[in-house]
Amino acid sequence: MQLLNKRPESLIDVPMHYCPGCGHGIVHRVIAEVMDELDIRKRTIGIAPVGCAVFADVYFNCDMIQGPHGRGPAEATGIKRAKPDTIVFSYQGDGDLASIGMAEIVHAAIRSENITVIFINNAIYGMTGGQQAPTTMPGQKTTTNPAGRDPKLAGYPIRVCEMLATLDGPAYIERVSVHNVANVLKAKRAIKKAFKTQNDGLGFSLVEVVSPCPTGWNLTPLKACEYVDKVMIPYYPLGVYKDITQSKSDISDSKKVLDKESVEK
Ligand code: SF4
Repeated sequence: MQLLNKRPESLIDVPMHYCPGCGHGIVHRVIAEVMDELDIRKRTIGIAPVGCAVFADVYFNCDMIQGPHGRGPAEATGIKRAKPDTIVFSYQGDGDLASIGMAEIVHAAIRSENITVIFINNAIYGMTGGQQAPTTMPGQKTTTNPAGRDPKLAGYPIRVCEMLATLDGPAYIERVSVHNVANVLKAKRAIKKAFKTQNDGLGFSLVEVVSPCPTGWNLTPLKACEYVDKVMIPYYPLGVYKDITQSKSDISDSKKVLDKESVEK
């Protein structure tokens, strides 16, 4: 277990640009602790998104690349297939993954690419000034719908975990949050499991993190955490949506010993 006051080696010691109360910094720290604990930093390649986390490559102490908006899963696919011994993660927000990058995430998941995706759901486009995102809550006010999202006009928010869990490809999908300490610890367990799933060669893993955006929501950091708890989580329930890692692991083990009966079982 990482000492609370010790900076993970996988996180560079520079000030972050995130707003006070933003969830991105917490998730960065959690990913860095997981990289340290699994001892995978030197062979990890991360993909920074377009969005508020666009400077993620400045913060993570591993190889990082930056690509076009929404294309993280496609870039991760290319890297992982060319260099299977690496650990590849794509870090994406809701505009990046659930809007312009929807095709890439769905097809990477259905192909069960052996990559890990960390999806930050803060229900708004933070970097560009607080416009409506695919994940914006019904009734939530944004700069592009100041009267609040009306599903009759703007449709309903996308539940990414539920949608991807219907596909045959993914090995592990979980939704977590970082609005209090207990949930940060659960988020870390989920992110660690996602990286281990990839490390064990079991296929596609995704962790959605419901995350506060006090600036985009025009709330204090404390009120933003309450908004996550009272408004977002009822619509985006936390939990495991798909986990077939155990059965995939059993098949993988039985293949290793080439025992026909075990493989069939
Ligand atoms: S706008 Fe929102 S998501 Fe972006 S850095 Fe600020 S709090 Fe974080």
